[in-house]
Amino acid sequence: MKALIAGAGIGGLAAGIALRQAGLEVQIFERSPQLQEIGAGLMIWPNGSRALESLGVEAKTLEVKNVTLSNWHGHRLVEMPVGSAYVRYGHSVSFVHRADLQAALAKTFGPQGLRLGCEVRGFSDNEAEVEVALNDGTVAAGDLLVGADGLRSPVRRQLLGDGDPTYLGSTIWRGLVASEGIAVPPGSGINWWGRGSEFLAFHLADSKIYWAGVTKEPRGERPGPGGHKHDLSERFGDWAEPVPALIAATSDAAILRNDMYDRPPASHWSRGRVTLAGDAAHPMSPNQGQGACQALEDGVALGESVKRTSSLAEAFQLYERRRLRRANREVAMSRQATRGVQIANPLLCTLRDGFMSLLPGRLILRIQDATLAPDASALP
Ligand SMILES: Cc1cc2nc3c(=O)[nH]c(=O)nc-3n(C[C@H](O)[C@H](O)[C@H](O)COP(=O)(O)OP(=O)(O)OC[C@H]3O[C@@H](n4cnc5c(N)ncnc54)[C@H](O)[C@@H]3O)c2cc1C
Repeated sequence: MKALIAGAGIGGLAAGIALRQAGLEVQIFERSPQLQEIGAGLMIWPNGSRALESLGVEAKTLEVKNVTLSNWHGHRLVEMPVGSAYVRYGHSVSFVHRADLQAALAKTFGPQGLRLGCEVRGFSDNEAEVEVALNDGTVAAGDLLVGADGLRSPVRRQLLGDGDPTYLGSTIWRGLVASEGIAVPPGSGINWWGRGSEFLAFHLADSKIYWAGVTKEPRGERPGPGGHKHDLSERFGDWAEPVPALIAATSDAAILRNDMYDRPPASHWSRGRVTLAGDAAHPMSPNQGQGACQALEDGVALGESVKRTSSLAEAFQLYERRRLRRANREVAMSRQATRGVQIANPLLCTLRDGFMSLLPGRLILRIQDATLAPDASALP
């Protein structure tokens, strides 16, 4: 069988590797002329690390020992001992540079079967094959198509026709700085919560610190007249150090700003010879740090489903059985986490922060057992 994949992001490359492992010929079409993930960090939870292991992908990561949640004055609310994840879940939590993860996935997939600068414009599906129309006017045919083409997936638009993603009401700025002189120890993540806003920072494997700041804003993504740094200083300038130091150390041109979106969970991702993976299937807010981890799980599950079944219809059924509820739960949990951060009323913020400070750090991790463990029912 020949698989066609739209998109060579984390989801498309993971699906490509897994489908090849299942014995299929794979062709990935990526509209960008180069594979160039943006300069930012990702947190990979044990479920994501497990999927990477299954795909045979080794990325340059830094293991996380603890994640601290503080209020915006720097008062510590709770510390999560994520270093204990390995003992409980068999895999650790790590930080990775997006470009390093994408490069590791691309290396495992290899150059053969990857066409860059090639945009999928649409597909037609019949009993015998699926055809995709490409931007150069040509058509490619295969036995199945995976739409791994991200948040605004054209494949999803044609397959499900369920409109645009939903703006969540918050925007996120991101940056990377040299770690020298900045008080974020390697192996630690720090998350500060404010009024309708948050800031987080963590070390990557290469002496760089990744940071992100989130506030409630009208949709827009564009910087104000003073630039991103000015916008950030207005919102985070009086927060506890090292928040202002991280903003000051980043050049304006290196700051990214994106509005946050998700979609209501879908009831299915497949029809005929076409299915979806990654953000095309289940875009979620970044608050649980699970979007990429879920995309990696999709790839593994898709490959295994094709391998274990004798028809495409059965394979897509098994794929959805393994993935749909699980990924949709993460969409819902991520949205819930975003709503928690968006609380802006000072009294409610005090109650929220007080509640968080009463929770044992271990419990916050255990609440995620169903996501992080291969079989949560087997955990003590
Ligand atoms: C601020 C932020 C922080 C995050 N932090 C985390 C985290 O800590 N941990 C985590 O697990 N997840 C995190 N995520 C989520 C994660 O980044 C995404 O879920 C993940 O990158 C999705 O990968 P994807 O391959 O599905 O989509 P994408 O990365 O969007 O890739 C889609 C690819 O398809 C290509 N494409 C689009 N249209 C076409 C077309 N028509 N033809 C061909 N190619 C096309 C695009 O160029 C792109 O390369 C975060 C997300 C954000 C926004």
